[in-house]
Amino acid sequence: MTCVSSVYRVAVLGSSGVGKSFLINQFTSSELLGTSQECSSDSDVDGVSITVVLDQQETVLQFMDKQEDVTAATDILPEAYMVVYSCTCRASFKAAVQICQHLKDNAQTDKSVILVANKVDLARRREVESDEGRKAAFGYECKYIETSAALGLNVDELLVGVLSQIKLNLNPE
Ligand code: GDP
Ligand code: MG
Repeated sequence: MTCVSSVYRVAVLGSSGVGKSFLINQFTSSELLGTSQECSSDSDVDGVSITVVLDQQETVLQFMDKQEDVTAATDILPEAYMVVYSCTCRASFKAAVQICQHLKDNAQTDKSVILVANKVDLARRREVESDEGRKAAFGYECKYIETSAALGLNVDELLVGVLSQIKLNLNPE
C-alpha cells in the first residue's frame, strides 16, 4: 500500500543568533529521518523539508527559517511555531515571550507553539533559568523544551515534540 505523507509547515521564530539555523541543521542529521530527505534553500518557501518516520508513518516537516519578524505578513500559515531563545541571552527570552503574546493576540493559539530554550550547554553563561522558561510556556499554554544544538541535546526530542503537537492538534482525542 502506498501512503502519501502529510506535509506540515513549522515557522521557526526568535531573535537572531539564538541557534535557529543550527537547530534546523541538526534536524537534518536526526536518526528519525526517512530516506527522502531534501533540502531547499533560498527558494520561495525559504525552508528545509525533513521527512520524519515516527510510528511507521512518514511525515514531511517544512521548517521555515529567517522569520525573525513575526509580524511580517505571510500568506502561508504554518501548522506549528517553534519559538526559540537562548538561555544565555535575556533579551532573546523577552523577544520570545513577545512572540508568544503576538501569536496569542492574533488567535494563532489553536496552532501548536513550542518554546525552545537553546544553548543549555553554556551553563556558566546562563541568564534565564529553566523555571522562568517553563513558567512562560505554561502561561501561554505551550510546550517547553531545553536544547543544545551544539551538543545535539534534546534535538530529536524537539523534532518528535513538534510532530506530536501538530498531530495532537489536528486529531484531539
Ligand atoms: P540564528 O540566527 O538563530 O539562526 O542562529 P545560528 O543558528 O546562526 O547560531 C548563532 C550562533 O550560536 C552560531 O555561532 C552557533 O554556532 C551558536 N549556537 C547555536 N546553537 C548553539 C548551542 O546550542 N550551543 C552553543 N554553544 N552555541 C550555539
Ligand atoms: Mg539563522
